[in-house]
Amino acid sequence: MSLDADTIVVGAGIVGAACAHALAASGQRVLVLDDLRGGATAAGMGHLVVMDDNAAELALSSLSLRLWQQWSTQLDSDSAWHPCGTLWLAANAEEMQAAEEKQARLQAQNVACTLVDAVRLQSMEPALRSGLHGALHVQHDAVVYAPNVAQWLLLGPTAPAHLQLRHAKVVAIEEPHVRLADGSVLRAQAVVLANGLHATDLCPDLPIRAKKGQLLITDRYPGTVHHQLVELGYVTSAHHATGPSVAFNVQPRPTGQLLIGSSREFDDTSRTLNFPMLEQMLRRAVDYLPGLRDCNAIRSWTGVRAATPDGLPILGPHPTRAGLWLAVGHEGLGVTTAPASAQILAAQMTGAACPIDPSPYRAERFSQTTLHHAG
Ligand SMILES: Cc1cc2nc3c(=O)[nH]c(=O)nc-3n(C[C@H](O)[C@H](O)[C@H](O)COP(=O)(O)OP(=O)(O)OC[C@H]3O[C@@H](n4cnc5c(N)ncnc54)[C@H](O)[C@@H]3O)c2cc1C
Repeated sequence: MSLDADTIVVGAGIVGAACAHALAASGQRVLVLDDLRGGATAAGMGHLVVMDDNAAELALSSLSLRLWQQWSTQLDSDSAWHPCGTLWLAANAEEMQAAEEKQARLQAQNVACTLVDAVRLQSMEPALRSGLHGALHVQHDAVVYAPNVAQWLLLGPTAPAHLQLRHAKVVAIEEPHVRLADGSVLRAQAVVLANGLHATDLCPDLPIRAKKGQLLITDRYPGTVHHQLVELGYVTSAHHATGPSVAFNVQPRPTGQLLIGSSREFDDTSRTLNFPMLEQMLRRAVDYLPGLRDCNAIRSWTGVRAATPDGLPILGPHPTRAGLWLAVGHEGLGVTTAPASAQILAAQMTGAACPIDPSPYRAERFSQTTLHHAG
């Protein structure tokens, strides 16, 4: 029986696109299917940031930033690559101590970063309120416009041969084949599930939970902010929170607009804005950047992150469904971690050497409690 592709990838967000690109680059015939409903890639902030909540997250994100540097030399201008770096802001002595500890962890992974005192911080970002204690400057963090990078990976001049994108909704995976909404079946040797939050529609045993976020973008105010600004309290106030939370997170877009985040609400997949939460988020932003009070807001929107219980993505074979591979659960860091995720997945599928230890990201870590073949 003839095959439609060696591998079918379900989902053309940044993760599916990166996986498809990596597999096709290894010589496979890859077919990407996307139903155009859109996902987190189109809704997110596109901040490429080394995160270090745990060793596995640091390994994945620091490798990814190195891969992004390689991509950056080829990206087109629509990708809006902007190597602005990140300033992790310390509001008090305790957070300055956290900045020093973060610096030690990042430098152990050869991530370039320097501590900045209050005076230097004020000269780097004069729009910040006075009284901050300093910051950690992570030089090689950057920002992109992720939906256009996904397009570039699939359709741009560097897209490998034998990489095809088709608009179709997958309604079932009969590994290693897929059934489409029109009843037809496409055949392959392997299927990669990379459809973000909707992974559980096709693989209900995955431990994925929705974490909604809101963003707001302003009119153009070039030169107001120069780096992505994130409060160091972000890790405690938002990233690890178990209930609704907000944190100060502002990104200078190459257009001069300011993209303001961030918020987190669990188990809400609706697209509606939560105005009290938005107000809380903006109050926090104005607290750090008082001049924002006078800026015009143009648009606000929501997106939903696909979160696993430990915050790490699931990359590798499904434990019991032979022929089904998983690249899901990238939560709030999937734009950053897409390149390394793709390398890790492709290496496991093709038998190539993995660039880092893949075991922290494999689905088996959940198999005792949550993951089984739902049949
Ligand atoms: C508010 C917000 C801010 C964020 N900020 C950042 C940030 O600054 N930095 C960062 O690194 N990450 C950030 N993220 C996270 C990041 O956006 C996601 O982790 C990443 O985009 C996930 O990509 P994905 O390809 O896995 O999924 P998605 O982008 O959700 O793509 C899934 C695709 O699958 C398709 N699909 C779904 N079901 C089917 C089906 N049955 N058949 C066919 N196609 C299907 C959808 O149409 C969609 O195109 C943010 C997310 C949000 C919501």
